[in-house]
Amino acid sequence: MELVNLKDPQDTASFKEAVKRGLGKQQGLYFPRSFKAFDDVNSVLNMPLQQRSAFILRAIIGDELTDADITEIVDTAFNFTAPVAAVTDNIYTLELFHGPTLAFKDFGGRFMAQCLSKISDGEPITILTATSGDTGAAVAHAFHGIDNINVVILFPKGKISPLQEKLFTTLGGNIHTFSVDGDFDQCQALVKTAFDDPDVREGLHLNSANSINISRLLAQVCYYFEAFAQLPESQRDKVVVSVPSGNFGNLTAGIIARALGLPIKRFIAATNANDTVPRYLKDGVWAPNDTVATISNAMDVSRPNNWPRIEALIERGELPKEALAGVAVDEESTQIAMRQLAQKGYTSEPHAAVAFHALEHHLEEGEIGLFLGTAHPAKFRETVENVLGQPIALPGPLAACAAEKGLDEPISSDYEDLKAKLFATLG
Ligand SMILES: *Cc1c(COP(=O)(O)O)cnc(C)c1O
Repeated sequence: MELVNLKDPQDTASFKEAVKRGLGKQQGLYFPRSFKAFDDVNSVLNMPLQQRSAFILRAIIGDELTDADITEIVDTAFNFTAPVAAVTDNIYTLELFHGPTLAFKDFGGRFMAQCLSKISDGEPITILTATSGDTGAAVAHAFHGIDNINVVILFPKGKISPLQEKLFTTLGGNIHTFSVDGDFDQCQALVKTAFDDPDVREGLHLNSANSINISRLLAQVCYYFEAFAQLPESQRDKVVVSVPSGNFGNLTAGIIARALGLPIKRFIAATNANDTVPRYLKDGVWAPNDTVATISNAMDVSRPNNWPRIEALIERGELPKEALAGVAVDEESTQIAMRQLAQKGYTSEPHAAVAFHALEHHLEEGEIGLFLGTAHPAKFRETVENVLGQPIALPGPLAACAAEKGLDEPISSDYEDLKAKLFATLG
């Protein structure tokens, strides 16, 4: 598969190169030149999850990885389920939070880790990343136990929830965690300095494994097919998919699934008050505001970094403009939606509630709604308990690691301190 840098058409890459590089020149995003729809989507939908996912990925990257490699990657990465649950008469949810860190980022993270492990073929790699919560846990779990890949995660000591922290500091093995005496920006600055330092970059073979990596999107395409496979055949051509969006990776994957022939009628891009995209879709002006904090904090993004990929799909005619609507949902409506869902017997969290609210208000006669459940409610326990006024039980994996001791080592926010620690730990 040939990918092209959306900022510089001269800069092209194979899938393997794009996975290793992450970003292209001028920080441009790599993206396939086009997608080819399957001839017979129903037969694809009839396959079981793993077999189907391997089939889809083979169609996209089968020229670069063998069937056996793709099968092994998929079986290891997607070792949990993605069930569809009916919430109302005409609205379903796709639960993407049954992986090890209870959020949909497990799909992309685990797939990227397996791809990188196959592609690097035993050559040592150090993943260095800073986290303010969620991504650290997903990356740590995804790479845990993979030979020749070490992961170093920096986080601001005392500034992320204790539960979040335990999800990645308790793993040990090839997962090294440093608690920084500073804030998240200082952690990010340390990571940036390390990537600019040739001693460290080359000496430790740094890789960022960041969220714009193309492998993540391809993994996420697979669960849109899984959702449709679980819907009654008679409803499959009436489905409106509502995606709670922050950086817009999830929605990009959905649009790719549609370009591959999945009969998604249309999409709703559901955001919180960080509504750059809904405003842009309405008036055609790209005008990001300052980012505001909301209870759906994983979507507090005002400059979504995957948007150029969606723009490319629209420009290339792979997504008709009218098949994408933007809806911004305010804090009060989010809380009302969470209570409505609870009354229907479905406990949800703020991100999914944003997408549910958008569907309830914009679904047209005869349409069927599907919103993506991006995280387990226990991951946002405090907010959910506050809004619903009832306690939330911790699921097994969260409860288990909450009782363990964190293995993180303290460092200062001074770069030399990090450098010394990196070589002492990995060198
Ligand atoms: C990351 C995240 C989102 C936003 O997904 P994007 O792909 O960045 O649009 C939504 N919900 C939760 C729970 C997340 O962690």
